[in-house]
Amino acid sequence: MRTVYLNGEYMPENEANVSIFDRGFLMADGVYEVTSVLGGKLVDFEGHAVRLQRSLDALEMRNPISKEALLEVHRELVRLNGIDEGMIYLQVTRGAPGDRDFVFPDPETTAPTIVLFTQDKPGLANSPAAQKGMKVISIEDIRWGRRDIKTVQLLYPSMGKMMAKKAGADDAWMIEDGYVTEGTSNNAYIVKGNKIVTRALSNDILHGITRAAVLRFAQEAQMEVEERNFTIEEAKKADEAFITSASTFVMPVVEIDGVAVGEGVPGRVAPRLREIYLEESLKAAI
Ligand code: PMP
Repeated sequence: MRTVYLNGEYMPENEANVSIFDRGFLMADGVYEVTSVLGGKLVDFEGHAVRLQRSLDALEMRNPISKEALLEVHRELVRLNGIDEGMIYLQVTRGAPGDRDFVFPDPETTAPTIVLFTQDKPGLANSPAAQKGMKVISIEDIRWGRRDIKTVQLLYPSMGKMMAKKAGADDAWMIEDGYVTEGTSNNAYIVKGNKIVTRALSNDILHGITRAAVLRFAQEAQMEVEERNFTIEEAKKADEAFITSASTFVMPVVEIDGVAVGEGVPGRVAPRLREIYLEESLKAAI
């Protein structure tokens, strides 16, 4: 059984209870982060901590924990649960005011709820899926307009994964006004020649922590990066396609809506970026 963290205390997962009036439960009024663990260490903790603060600020939600204390909780959970490879899930909600009301509760009297738990994933870095590549379908992006805030409002992304599953695919890329926004839980990229193309940052997509690192590594490796919109038709005709996220790192996409991308197997660029990302992340992990 896992040891989890709830509002300042470590406890067995079956003893961690949250109120039925918690606004995370009633209204998806909460934000989250997922930090990966490699070799028992945290990948890009700083990036996740900064984005957490940004999400909280955007929702005028109080941060219940300092960055230093948060790092300590992450490390302690890794230690207590013996995690070598996996993820740490963190969620902060606006707390439980004791009733249901659309109006935000007074932060002086209603404390945020903070929860962290580990997900043990041995072999995460050497995932066979990375060798094979994944298949995506395209679906309409009908999410709200502040996708840059990492809220727990994940019903549509969850439905998107189910649509993909029913279609025999692994995930879905979402399309808005004819252009790909992102994957249900990852950023989307295509490769043409030596050029990596991905949508520019805006309120339309989550500002991926893995995205920032991968684009930096790509530039350091003299690859060309173009931040612009692309259509699903352009993606189908690209040499390669891939996704990035904290839990999948860099993952090749080999099929889009049943059409093979390139040769229909992982190409040259995505596997190389995965290699660099894993190597550099492991080196910089804390
Ligand atoms: N876009 C969406 C919609 C996501 O849910 C995620 C992962 N949470 C990402 C992109 C990737 O972000 P990161 O690299 O920070 O995991």
